[in-house]
Amino acid sequence: TERTFIMIKPDAVQRGLVGKIICRFEEKGFKLVAMKQKIGSKELFAKHYESLKKLKFYDGLVAYMATSPVVAMVWEGLGVVKTGRLMLGETDPAKSLPGTIRGDYCIEIGRNICHGSDSVASANDEIALWFDDSELC
Ligand code: ATP
Repeated sequence: TERTFIMIKPDAVQRGLVGKIICRFEEKGFKLVAMKQKIGSKELFAKHYESLKKLKFYDGLVAYMATSPVVAMVWEGLGVVKTGRLMLGETDPAKSLPGTIRGDYCIEIGRNICHGSDSVASANDEIALWFDDSELC
């Protein structure tokens, strides 16, 4: 079955939105197969965002993400990669429709509260980066 990597970013953890975000994925019908809260190292986020390395906001993004806890999750279900991205909304919250997570809960691109894998291949890479096989159930 298809799996995706969803991460609740520091801004959403600080704002107490963890439960609301989990609730949306549960209510949709996806299955939670792994979850942990941790402060990721800069090395971990440098790898996680490796594809953005050449962009001007990359250093700030990596530094910001490593400052305080995130909640890393693996969700499973039919079409979960694509549907998960639809549920998150656009990268820029200003372009996200109401009803999406970003459309409902945030306003700034640099504080857009959650991450979702953009393809099955990147989901598999991100799940392997964040979780050991023994943590997935
Ligand atoms: P994510 O990977 O977090 O799900 P995404 O795939 O929608 O987001 P990317 O283009 O991969 O978007 O950017 C990764 C993250 O970098 C964004 O979620 C956002 O937090 C941050 N980001 C993107 N563009 C900017 C920008 N112009 N200024 C500041 N931060 C940005």
